[in-house]
Amino acid sequence: MNSPRTRNSLLCPNCRRLVSRDAPHCPFCGLKRPGSWLKNNPLFAAFANENQFVRIIICVNIVMFIFSLLFTRHGPSLSLNPFDFLAPGNRSLLILGATGTVPIFRLQRWWSLLAANYLHGSLMHILFNMVALWQIGPLVIQEYGGWRMLVIYTLGGVLGFLVSTLAGVPLTIGASAAICALIGAILYYGKSRGGT
Ligand SMILES: [Zn+2]
Repeated sequence: MNSPRTRNSLLCPNCRRLVSRDAPHCPFCGLKRPGSWLKNNPLFAAFANENQFVRIIICVNIVMFIFSLLFTRHGPSLSLNPFDFLAPGNRSLLILGATGTVPIFRLQRWWSLLAANYLHGSLMHILFNMVALWQIGPLVIQEYGGWRMLVIYTLGGVLGFLVSTLAGVPLTIGASAAICALIGAILYYGKSRGGT
């Protein structure tokens, strides 16, 4: 049973301490209107903690991979070649935002430069990329912060695909360019700081 007292309080969505639902500010961390509906949803909770950003990117990649398999008309490839196992069809990848000269110059889909970062061509492809991201992402967050990591990741991916499109690649996908940008950021940090 909820007493009126507990119904009128909640955990601050930022610092997770008990605050009044109608407080104008959280008395502990200063967050404005901690009881507001805008701040009490899973999306806010996910983005409030920058250390969760890597997990969010990985989840989006997995969801997009599942969609790309589901949209493959004759079912995904079950080839015994590990590099082809669970490979979504090209048509499905094109619909979901594969990039390259065909989507960009023929279909004018500039947004695919962003979307293609979240698509993968097989189980191995997504597995290798996500393991790399899982290891490198937290290092970049530690040195640059979560939002900068997100910007480096996104810009790195978009620029990487822009270059491969201008180089004439017809259809391309994957998080590799974005992950390489993170590796570059870590190397740059290491070099400029002179650490290990
Ligand atoms: Zn708070």
